[in-house]
Amino acid sequence: MRIIHVAAEFAPIAKAGGLGEVIVGLSRMQMALLQDVEIIIPKHSFIHPNSLPYLKVETPEFTCKENGTEILNTMWSAEVEGCRLHLLEERHPAAYFRRPNIYGYPDDIPRFIYFSKAVIEYLKLQKQPIDVLHLHEWHTSLCAPLVKEIFAKELNVRSVVLTIHNLEYQGKCATWDLDAIGVKGASFLKPDKLQDDLHADSINLLKGGIVYADAITTVSPTYSKEILTPPLGFNLNKTLTKHKSKLQGILNGIDYKLWNPETDSLLAKRYSTQASFKEIELGKEKNKEALEKRFGLESGKRPWFGAITRLVPQKGPEMIEEAIHHVLASGGVFVLLGSSPLPDMQHRFDVLKEKYKGNRRLVLEFNYDETLAHLIYGALDFTLVPSHFEPCGLTQIIAMRYGTIPIVRSTGGLKDTIFDCDNSAVPIAARNGFTFSHPSELVNTIDRALEIKKNNSATFQTLVKHAIQSDFSWKKPADEYLKLYKKISGVSSSNQPPRIVARSVSRNI
Ligand code: ADP
Repeated sequence: MRIIHVAAEFAPIAKAGGLGEVIVGLSRMQMALLQDVEIIIPKHSFIHPNSLPYLKVETPEFTCKENGTEILNTMWSAEVEGCRLHLLEERHPAAYFRRPNIYGYPDDIPRFIYFSKAVIEYLKLQKQPIDVLHLHEWHTSLCAPLVKEIFAKELNVRSVVLTIHNLEYQGKCATWDLDAIGVKGASFLKPDKLQDDLHADSINLLKGGIVYADAITTVSPTYSKEILTPPLGFNLNKTLTKHKSKLQGILNGIDYKLWNPETDSLLAKRYSTQASFKEIELGKEKNKEALEKRFGLESGKRPWFGAITRLVPQKGPEMIEEAIHHVLASGGVFVLLGSSPLPDMQHRFDVLKEKYKGNRRLVLEFNYDETLAHLIYGALDFTLVPSHFEPCGLTQIIAMRYGTIPIVRSTGGLKDTIFDCDNSAVPIAARNGFTFSHPSELVNTIDRALEIKKNNSATFQTLVKHAIQSDFSWKKPADEYLKLYKKISGVSSSNQPPRIVARSVSRNI
C-alpha cells in the first residue's frame, strides 16, 4: 500500500509539538508493517542540511501559480529517522518557508494554502497510484477538496484521510485566499462545502478536509466523541456530526526508540523500563542532581513535580500556576518548561518568575528545549497535565515511559490513557496516575499524590511500575490505521517490502 502523509511538521527536524512526533512515529511503524510510506513537508529553512541524510534534488523545477504569477519550486528528498521524506522548497517572493519558525506568522493562511496547492502540483507529476493520501490538520486539509473536486482526473489518488490533531485550529480565511491559487473561492462558499459554520462569509480550510476526505480520524476515542458536542466542537460540531460515519478515534502512540530511558543519551543517568523500583529511583536521583546543578536548586529528598507544555489557554495555565504555588508551599520542587506564543501569557509567567526570584525549589524555563525536556522527564516524580481539553496528549505518555506519574484533568486522550490510583471501578493493573475533573479538585489531587509518595511507598512503587511498563507504542494504532486504509482504498496490503528500506540511524530527539 502506498501511503503519503502531508504535514507541516516532522520530528525531530521540524517539531513544534505533538504533530511532528506523530508523523515520525506513525510512519516508522507503518514501514515496519511493510507499507510504502512517504512524507511531504515544507523545506523549512531552519532545517540544517546535516540533519537530512541522503539529501538530493528529486524534481528540480515545477511551478505553482499564485495571483497569476508562476512560482518555481523544487522537491527534495531525504531519509530522516528511516523515513522517506519529500521537502518542498519554494522560491516564493515572500519566502513562505524560509522563516525561523513553523507557524505564528500573519500570512500563515496563504503559506499553507500555497503549500497544499504546490503538493497537488507535485502529485500531478506522479505516475504511480497513491493508495492513501493522509492529510494532517488545517494546514494541509485543502488538499482534500483539490483532490476530490478539482484535480481528480489529473491525479491518481485512491483515498484521502484527514487526521484532526486539534480542532481548535481551523484555518479560517476569505474566498480570495483561494482565488489566489486559481481556485474559485466563491464556488466553495456553501454550507456543504468549505463555508465556515459560524461566519457565513468565511472559508474554513479544516471543514474542507472534513467534508471531502473519505475518512476522518482524531487522536483519541474520547476526543472523537467530545468534538461532536458544542463545548469542544469549536463550531464544527454540526458538520462533524453530519460526517460522523466517517469519523473514528485512534489513540496516538509514542516512538519507543526515540523515547527510551535505557538508551536516552540526554539523561544524566539511564535506567531500564524493566529495572527494579530502586534502580529507577536511583536513575531519577542522578537526573535530579543534574538539574539541581544546572539551575542552582536546593538539594535534598523532596517530591518533584513539573510540566512540559505549550503555555496556551488549552493547557490550563492558571491551574499550572496554582499547582506551582501549592507544590512550593508543600515543600516540593516544581520544574516548568513552557513556551508561549502569546505575549499576555508570557507576561503572566514572567510576573510569576519575578515573584519567586531566588526560590531554589522552582525552575521556570520559557523556551522550547528538546534536550532539557528529556532530562526533566527522567527526573520528575510527577508530571502535571491539567488541560481544559486534550485531543490526545503525548506528555503524559512520554512521562510514563520514564516512570513519572501523570496528574491529569480527565478529558480527551488524558481520559483514555490515565486511570486514577484510587478508582475502584478500574482494575488495579490499569491504574497509573491521578485524575481530576473540576479545576477546584487540583489541589486535593496534588495532596493525594504527595500523601502516597510520602506514606504509601508500596502503592507509589506499583504506580511507577504500571506507568513505566504500559504499552503505548505505535503498533496498535498503526494496525488500526492500516485497517482503515484498506477499508477506504479497497487495497489489501501485500507482503512486499517497502521500496525504501530504513537506512539512517535513529537518534534521540
Ligand atoms: P501539543 O501537541 O498540544 O503541544 P502534546 O502533549 O500532544 O501537546 O505534545 C507535546 C510535545 O511537545 C511533547 O513531545 C512535549 O515533550 C513537547 N514539548 C512541549 N513543550 C515543550 C517545550 N517547551 N520544550 C520541549 N518540548 C516541549
